[in-house]
Amino acid sequence: MKETFQNSLNNKNEMTIAWELVPGRGAREKSQESALKAAEEAAKGDRVHALTITDNPGGNPAILADYLGMEILRMGIEPLVHFSCKDKNRYQMESQLYALNRAEVNNLLVLTGDYPEALEGRRPKPVFDMDSTHTLELITKMNNGLEVQGRKGPIKYHPTSFFTGAAVSPFKATEAEQVTQYFKLEKKVAAGARFIVTQLGYDARKFHEVLQFLKVHNGDIPVLGNLYILSYSAAKLMNQNQIPGCVVPDKLLAKIEEEKDASDKGLEKRLLRAAKMYAVMKGMGFSGVHIGGHNIKYHQVEYIIDKGEELSIDWQDLAAEFDYPIPGGFYYFEKDKASGLNTTKPVNREKLPLNAPVGITYKISRIMHSIFFDPGKPLYRAMKYLSKALDGSILERPFHKLELLLKVGLYDCKDCGDCALPDTGYVCPMSQCPKNQRNGPCGGSNNGFCEVNPDRQCIYVRAYSRLKKYGEEEQLRGTQIPACNWDLYQTSGWKNFYLGRDHAAACPVDKAKDKKIKELAQH
Ligand code: SF4
Repeated sequence: MKETFQNSLNNKNEMTIAWELVPGRGAREKSQESALKAAEEAAKGDRVHALTITDNPGGNPAILADYLGMEILRMGIEPLVHFSCKDKNRYQMESQLYALNRAEVNNLLVLTGDYPEALEGRRPKPVFDMDSTHTLELITKMNNGLEVQGRKGPIKYHPTSFFTGAAVSPFKATEAEQVTQYFKLEKKVAAGARFIVTQLGYDARKFHEVLQFLKVHNGDIPVLGNLYILSYSAAKLMNQNQIPGCVVPDKLLAKIEEEKDASDKGLEKRLLRAAKMYAVMKGMGFSGVHIGGHNIKYHQVEYIIDKGEELSIDWQDLAAEFDYPIPGGFYYFEKDKASGLNTTKPVNREKLPLNAPVGITYKISRIMHSIFFDPGKPLYRAMKYLSKALDGSILERPFHKLELLLKVGLYDCKDCGDCALPDTGYVCPMSQCPKNQRNGPCGGSNNGFCEVNPDRQCIYVRAYSRLKKYGEEEQLRGTQIPACNWDLYQTSGWKNFYLGRDHAAACPVDKAKDKKIKELAQH
């Protein structure tokens, strides 16, 4: 009898197997029936620890992953439900989490989520009310017994027992994208992620990098490597960046194109490549694998596990076969010449050029900040006094309009009233980031550019570059910026700041978290 998903991940002598099912759109279509048939086989086969169920992948509607998780659990196999932030606000999340808890669906992979797709030229409203760090934090609070203020005093709810993981991409081309990915990873761990799943790529040194980063900075957290059985059609889409965050460079696409002309259309080679990846991941020290691929059968999953185990003795030689880097891409650590992987020494980032221009707006913003918003400066006190005097008066509205005029001109301000500009290098996450990410990038950026608006640089590439210019890029590390307080929407962000109503007001929980991350970062 195999161990539970959680126990297996914590057992260093065992590789944990998660197999991804994509049930798709509809309730009784072929894709749902195939997913359930695969689940039935996996339950009987007893080799897979959890079946992972995608949550509206590609930003398209699909059958609810939570519901399918319940159905799969009844078959006698654990689900690992993907729980994304794209189409539910914080209350909907909490409601769904209660339902999942009641159904004993406890394994969750918390993700930002793909941007909702437009259908027939019309796009639904993207939500992104909370990011993955906020969602992880909410689940941690629920696991400890969520406390809320009721009419007659505090109410504490029964603790839930979720086992939550988060994702990270080591497959980023630029320094700014990669470093901010890792900064956000630290926030996810601090917020309660208990295991990590990597994004998809085929560069052994990058897989090793994420393990090394976590070892150096966050201790011993289990990591599942993403092992995707790559067909030519999927490789082509990934190569054209049509599947966010999945990296297939030209060199790999060319190889797969060659293989597709075989009589089995390259199936044998694909499965062997997956088994070799399994072997490399096991050798490197991954706690398990997250197996994915279109139309994969259970017996193929078994083959990958068995063949991978057999090959794992030679993992160091096999690692050299996974040499599909992003041309000119950034690596966090210096290369270990003997193994071709990484040392524990970070590359000297000071000498590397900025990935985005800094611009005059940022320079003006820094000056304004130091004059008006720094508590040590005389004008800070004057503004605080003015905000108090204006609060509730007939001059409040004109004051707000004046602020808006300036901030729309400089930052394309959306008037959220809970301003995060000073936290993100004065690049507004509410107007410039389609997913409103306040704590670091989503996984979808490509070569420094935004997943949703490919003609614009990701806001974290811009923010990191601005801060790095002044040696302050570590500002993006550590402190978790809370989800936007919509009670402040269309009120003066300046007034909210000076009167301590926005997230910048002292928050002991965040300070504790900040301290913890800074301590970890020193190791
Ligand atoms: S700006 Fe960056 S974080 Fe925001 S959606 Fe685009 S790629 Fe993702």
